[in-house]
Amino acid sequence: MADSAGSRGSGLLERLAQGPVVCAEGYLFEIERRGYLTAGAYVPEAVLEHPDAVARLHRDFLHAGSDVMLAFTYYAHREKLRVIGKEGALEEMNRTALRLAREAAEEGGTLFAGNVCNSNIYVDGDAESARQVRAMFDEQVGWAVDEGVDFIVAETISYANEALLALEAIKAAGQTAVINLAVHRDPETREGLSPAEAARRLEDAGADVVGLNCTRGPASMLPLLGPIREAVNCHVAALPVAYRTSAEEPTFQSLTDPACGCLPRERPFPEALDPFTVNRYEIEDFTRAAQALGVNYLGVCCGAGPHHIRAMAEALGRRPAASRYSTDMSQHAFYGTDARIPDQYKAFAKNL
Ligand SMILES: [Zn+2]
Repeated sequence: MADSAGSRGSGLLERLAQGPVVCAEGYLFEIERRGYLTAGAYVPEAVLEHPDAVARLHRDFLHAGSDVMLAFTYYAHREKLRVIGKEGALEEMNRTALRLAREAAEEGGTLFAGNVCNSNIYVDGDAESARQVRAMFDEQVGWAVDEGVDFIVAETISYANEALLALEAIKAAGQTAVINLAVHRDPETREGLSPAEAARRLEDAGADVVGLNCTRGPASMLPLLGPIREAVNCHVAALPVAYRTSAEEPTFQSLTDPACGCLPRERPFPEALDPFTVNRYEIEDFTRAAQALGVNYLGVCCGAGPHHIRAMAEALGRRPAASRYSTDMSQHAFYGTDARIPDQYKAFAKNL
């Protein structure tokens, strides 16, 4: 596939020139909820152990309106596999994940993207760690190019300088680069740069799309997007987690749940965030607000379900296949307005 990779790399930018692109993310959380992956290590072993589950989720996101099939290679990198003692599975896990995404993309006529992410060994200013991290990015980018991706996403990286290493690896391979930073409680990168300044440096270094993903929900990500949009000329991305964060608790790791007395740890992150899940209307609101700011690479990260992606697509004026089943309360047994609903049931609605 390597011979076609360069020419297909322009697909994302052509799509963005025409309008917003929707990219469903959050594979780790959704596959974990479905019972095929462990919360904690969060290595996408389901790619090898339950490829059907991964293929199913790709198709669910396709049905819901995602314009991109993102390979489930988040944390399928050398450091994570070293931690769980399975470095030997690294290439097979990456290539299988890429093929699963490619098959779904070919079936749905969507874009097909590779993915690299936070290395968890990067130490700012340490040349040896930079060398190791760059090597990790290079090997994953190499497999992605070999499997014929249209572009490559580097995401959930909280050091601008680590993101620059990912960008260099992607650009060295001649690929279109989407670079998304994760901003923790302090609204800055881990070097202390504003997200806008980090985005500007990434654009200057050749990024095609820059933005934010993960960690922050719609409410605490939105305020950071305007300054990024003003700082760069390239396309801007925003893919929040699907949780109700706030100014006081701006990240999903920082959320507390005083209503629950049975948590095994102090905070509900990562597997007990259910009560904080945003609804589809909140995603619609976020989509419209981000689009109004000029953000045109949109998606949802951890916590996303297909209903969130459909809501995002519909907020952009689309009708994905799943829209055939969007809410229609007219025939509800009590709240319905249809003439065939018995009046005494309609009248009882106030008692429900
Ligand atoms: Zn995420």
